[in-house]
Amino acid sequence: MATVGELAARYANFLVHPLLPGPGVCQVCRGTAKPGYPTCWQCQEARKILGSKVADAVVPVSLALKNEQYANELWRYKNVVGAQQQYFRTGLAAVLWRFLALHEACITAHCAVRGFDIVTSVPSTSGREDHPLRTMVADMVGATRGRYRDLLTPASDAAALGRTASSSRYSASALWGENVLLIDDTWTTCHHAQSAAAALKKAGAGSVAVVVLGRHLNLTYGDTATLVEQARLRSFSWDACGLRPWDHGPNPQPPPRDTNHRP
Ligand SMILES: [Zn+2]
Ligand SMILES: [Zn+2]
Repeated sequence: MATVGELAARYANFLVHPLLPGPGVCQVCRGTAKPGYPTCWQCQEARKILGSKVADAVVPVSLALKNEQYANELWRYKNVVGAQQQYFRTGLAAVLWRFLALHEACITAHCAVRGFDIVTSVPSTSGREDHPLRTMVADMVGATRGRYRDLLTPASDAAALGRTASSSRYSASALWGENVLLIDDTWTTCHHAQSAAAALKKAGAGSVAVVVLGRHLNLTYGDTATLVEQARLRSFSWDACGLRPWDHGPNPQPPPRDTNHRP
């Protein structure tokens, strides 16, 4: 049987690290922001509507560029059937597994918590009977399945809420301060994942961090193409971390200090 590393290996050919923090990049979701603004318009709106109930961290594994391979796979794992479906689900599950094995400790440190007690996924609001994201997170990914719980239920009028963040888009089972790792597949705007994070906090969650497989971006929008070109200059490495400023192996350690250097 193929290992997680083998199954995830081909993705290193086309995954793209999220945009580097800096001018023109949203500090929350790593999408594009207007120059001079710390976040994109949608993250700003989510913060306005949801206040402190927004997620404590949003961690994209990779960019998912419209019409390119990874964005296509994130669509196909939900919308094709049979052997192809299995192929894409296995591949993306390996991506999530490999990423969390290397970087969940970084997310824990970033949120200043001792760990994430529960893992859950953002439910689909399309009313589908098959739940491909849930299948991956609850059944396939070794790093998450033992902690998986179904916590979120879409509100019956969720579809009518349109493109705004709302803490009533989902309802969540009662929690008593547990920290929750919330998994989503594609982040296009923040209204699904941030609404889900807010529902979890409203229900009593402690810290909530969102890990998203693909930060969807459209290259034809604004300065996106330029920023993505810069992001592509760094070839994808599993060890490169979105939360710590250095590459690291399975046990994140800061790089050795240069002891000969004196200021
Ligand atoms: Zn944003
Ligand atoms: Zn890391």
